[in-house]
Amino acid sequence: MQAMVLDLPGRPLRLADLPRPRPGPGEVLLGVEACAVCRTDLHVVDGELLYPTLPLVPGHEIVGRIIEQGPQARRFEIGARVGVPWLGWTCGVCQFCRTGAENLCIEARFTGYTRQGGYAELTVADERFCFTLPDTYDAVHAAPLLCAGLIGHRAYRQATEHPFGGEARRLGLYGFGAAAHLLTQVAVADGRRVLAFTRAGDSAAQAHARGLGAEWAGSSDDLPAEPLDAAIIFAPVGALVHTALRAVRPGGVVVCAGIHMSDIPTFPYRDLWQERVLRSVANLTREDGERFLARAAQVPLRVDATAYPLPSANEALAAVRQGTIRGAAVLTPNS
Ligand SMILES: [Zn+2]
Ligand SMILES: [Zn+2]
Repeated sequence: MQAMVLDLPGRPLRLADLPRPRPGPGEVLLGVEACAVCRTDLHVVDGELLYPTLPLVPGHEIVGRIIEQGPQARRFEIGARVGVPWLGWTCGVCQFCRTGAENLCIEARFTGYTRQGGYAELTVADERFCFTLPDTYDAVHAAPLLCAGLIGHRAYRQATEHPFGGEARRLGLYGFGAAAHLLTQVAVADGRRVLAFTRAGDSAAQAHARGLGAEWAGSSDDLPAEPLDAAIIFAPVGALVHTALRAVRPGGVVVCAGIHMSDIPTFPYRDLWQERVLRSVANLTREDGERFLARAAQVPLRVDATAYPLPSANEALAAVRQGTIRGAAVLTPNS
């Protein structure tokens, strides 16, 4: 099968012809229809996330059809379409797995990082970690739901479910890429007011945000006219932590949604004081995935995606890095 392979962090991916993978017990072999490109893939390729399995096939937003079942795999039929997310395997017995926080499992394995991923014609997944996808999205438009959508949704819940001092009506999003473009639509459907903060001068991203229902879009250097109730930071820029804390009201929540950020500069304690909450989001649980995909079946989301053939994975990564994509970049290995 054809695959794009990372031999060493810092190098471009290499197009390779690999042997057909074989599903082990409880695993399924998938023909990959689409695999979205996540910013996390950049952190893996750039070496900001340590100790990937090498050589590695990246990619963790996979839509595929089951073409072979390993021993004891019987959850899905042959031919079923499933989604494979970042969380690829957990131990089931650690303190986190036993308390509904499998996203923090100390033994967890991650698709396209410590398990082989979806930048390939074929991939293998543990069937317990696969999702059934809503029929209303084709492969290219379903793939971005699998990380941008569902880890974004975990961040959204953490930002909005437990505020102090009233509901989280005014929500700021810092960085307007694949995740923010989906979450804006969910938040607007929930009756929230979305403010989108982008790089100064990125008028295309700001227009994109307004087109999806944001009531205001502008530079992350700007303070909102009224304080935010909550903010989510998607851009991997540590300086935005202070920026967002200054923008939220007392009791407001700031969630860092990425897996990697540049260092956070020091800032005065008074900007955290008054019970502002700063927290991060790590990975996803299967429950997060089920909840978000049920939501995506109910609220028809406009998924903006640009398709790339598999050998163009390096170009797709470059477009995500430069922020020149509107929405998500998606590889289509079998088309
Ligand atoms: Zn565990
Ligand atoms: Zn991701």
